[in-house]
Amino acid sequence: MKVTEHLNRADKTLLSFEILPPLKGKSIQNIYSVLDPLVEFKPAFINVTYHRSEYIYKKRGDERFDKVFIRKRPGTVGICAAVQFKYHIDSVAHIICGGFTKEETEDALIDLSYLGIDNVLLLRGDASKNERDFIPEPGGHSHAVDLVRQVVDMNRGKYLEEDSIQGYKTDFNIGVAGYPEKHFESPNLKSDLKHLKEKIDAGADYIVTQMFFDNQQFFAFVDRCRAEGITVPIIPGIKSITAASQIHSIPRTFHVDIPEALIDTIEKCTTAEAVKKAGVAWCIEQSRELVKAGVPCIHYYTMGNVDAMRSILTEVF
Ligand code: FAD
Repeated sequence: MKVTEHLNRADKTLLSFEILPPLKGKSIQNIYSVLDPLVEFKPAFINVTYHRSEYIYKKRGDERFDKVFIRKRPGTVGICAAVQFKYHIDSVAHIICGGFTKEETEDALIDLSYLGIDNVLLLRGDASKNERDFIPEPGGHSHAVDLVRQVVDMNRGKYLEEDSIQGYKTDFNIGVAGYPEKHFESPNLKSDLKHLKEKIDAGADYIVTQMFFDNQQFFAFVDRCRAEGITVPIIPGIKSITAASQIHSIPRTFHVDIPEALIDTIEKCTTAEAVKKAGVAWCIEQSRELVKAGVPCIHYYTMGNVDAMRSILTEVF
């Protein structure tokens, strides 16, 4: 079933998870050991992230270097299929522009369609670790909106290089990313919302937000979206802090603020266990307030934290 069908049919707040493919060389069991203890909470859908390949320089015997591409976390399409097969829960495949040509993207979408995976979250991706700015692959897309247009074309039966041929119409439900605290490259929220609206106008069906730790940021974002004429469902994405180091790494990586009250609480903790407890307590309060506000679904960035997730879900759902 499509994400928006889940949202339309629900009479209460749903929940969903986001998981990362395991590092290359690990087995699918790594996914099952995260999901087995969580599926009893009946997630409406499970997202699987996509990771671009990075290049490294490998020393050769003759003192020269080879530029080698490695993808540390392959397997998104396979994991989506495994999730649907094993748990009978809809999966959402993330598809990114970075590192892919349009043809490679089309092939991946055809695989997903054949596997019965009709939910995609379309993203630009971040700059490669070796680059300062995002550089599209030659023959690839520059922005998520271009990816939305490609998928919408396929949903109309239009494939690349085949303008005149009516192909099979795929049936993808399309999610895109939104940023309550604005995307870090955007000069201001208004400009970011203009581009968010372009993704919706191009055919995206719903929005999932970047993580935030202050619900007021989310509520204000939803109000701004509605004022700009964005009417699709907006799913809040949240995460529990599980280690003291995250109060520095999360803002650096995701460009979001952590409220003073949460920082104060974490800094007073004297053990790792106390930090985890404080993070869980904050996430429970955030979740409860979001449920009370009637959000359609809460999307949890699980990041493999099974125990923390179980504690939160037991209290909230
Ligand atoms: P875009 O919508 O393309 O926006 C990027 C920037 O460009 C914004 O500042 C926007 O305002 C601006 N912009 C947009 N369109 C235009 C235009 N036409 N002209 C000029 N400027 C424009 N990354 C991964 O690599 N893999 C994942 O699986 C993944 N999952 C994610 C899931 C969620 C829910 C979120 C919120 C993020 C995820 N990311 C993932 C990170 C994401 O790829 C980055 O945040 C990336 O920097 C931006 O992606 P986007 O799709 O929002 O890009």
